[in-house]
Amino acid sequence: MKHFVPKKLPPYVVINDPSCKKKGILRVPTTLITFPIDEETQDVIRQLEAKFDAEESCAGLAAPQIGYSKRVIILEANDEELKQYREDFTDMLPKSIWINPSFKPVSKKKTIDWEACFSVDGVKGEVPRFTEILYEAWTPDGKKVKGRVKGFLARLIQHEIDHLNGILFIDHIPEDQLVPREVL
Ligand SMILES: [Zn+2]
Repeated sequence: MKHFVPKKLPPYVVINDPSCKKKGILRVPTTLITFPIDEETQDVIRQLEAKFDAEESCAGLAAPQIGYSKRVIILEANDEELKQYREDFTDMLPKSIWINPSFKPVSKKKTIDWEACFSVDGVKGEVPRFTEILYEAWTPDGKKVKGRVKGFLARLIQHEIDHLNGILFIDHIPEDQLVPREVL
């Protein structure tokens, strides 16, 4: 896919922003994308990548977060600075665009750690996630990718795939355990 920067980046859809008209999309499970990918979906992928690239520190984004109910995420886990704060940040992943991703836990074991999200303003929380997962997904040109990952990368994948199923990190924790956060 050619590198392409849309003239105007789409704004984030934010669940707790009263002025955000598209927030319902965050709660709608997305449907599978078919191959070859149509023009409209390719445009969504370009916008998602441009939005991701514009963030200084962003580990992952899902299409519903920019207003499109499409089963695509972008993620990257190779941030040396973040590694200092996440002791379970062991598995790395170069910037990847995943179509129709899914995961299965390797065991019932979960780990609790902090999460925040561009689609949930002003709060962060400690979220239990499966410690180790098997994932599979397709690249935009239709190649299947799969693997077994643990720790922070497994957490990131679960957070982003949740978005494709209408789930937000705040759904995994009691409301009184959310704490305020500064700008993401
Ligand atoms: Zn998120």
